[in-house]
Amino acid sequence: MIAGMEAQRSVMVADQLRARGITAERVLAAMAEVPREEFVPVELQRHAYEDHPLAIGGGQTISQPFIVASMTQALELDAGDVALEVGAGSGYQAAILARLCRRVLTIERDPDLAATAAANLARLGIENVEVRTGDGSLGAIDLAPDSAILVAAAARRVPPALLEQLAVGGRMVIPVESAAPDQQDLVLITREASKYSSRVLFPVRFVPLVEG
Ligand code: SAH
Repeated sequence: MIAGMEAQRSVMVADQLRARGITAERVLAAMAEVPREEFVPVELQRHAYEDHPLAIGGGQTISQPFIVASMTQALELDAGDVALEVGAGSGYQAAILARLCRRVLTIERDPDLAATAAANLARLGIENVEVRTGDGSLGAIDLAPDSAILVAAAARRVPPALLEQLAVGGRMVIPVESAAPDQQDLVLITREASKYSSRVLFPVRFVPLVEG
């Protein structure tokens, strides 16, 4: 018999997240609560808790649970934070962020995926996420400054608008193309009063950030 989704979800949290060093209890709790199967096509729902990305249409993917948890943990969100996500996909990462901060704006360039994300979030009653269609590399000037920015697609360079819109004291996680082919570094950028600091977390593989 196939275990229920809830049981699969708690095994995912234990085996893929806790066992690999995700320690932030709020992040683990969010990952244990948000039903990932609601963010994948019906025919893939039985694979929702496997340890890899899955196709969501339009040539795009829902990120691997460990990557979602790692990026979220790196942002060290507070309940009062305002977060910007670039690349909503089907909305799963946004749903996780929504449990950990006050307001989330997620921008998706593919209008079909943006509609899917909005529908998935609405169906689950998640009200503090706004989905917009557009080029997220430009950020959203009406929301700035953002205490946290999560970019879910790989950039050749960190978009300058996102650096500008990051609040002082804010954190950004972004996959950036590395020298190795087909590989990117997940970079954590923090903004202090007079400077930005950045640190490579680990290598990742994301779909490309398409600007314009
Ligand atoms: N955050 C998703 C993963 C999305 S995959 C999750 O929770 O699983 C990355 C997404 O970024 C794709 O849907 C792609 O269409 C989108 N994307 C790529 N370039 C973009 C851009 N410049 N602005 C907004 N979205 C972009």
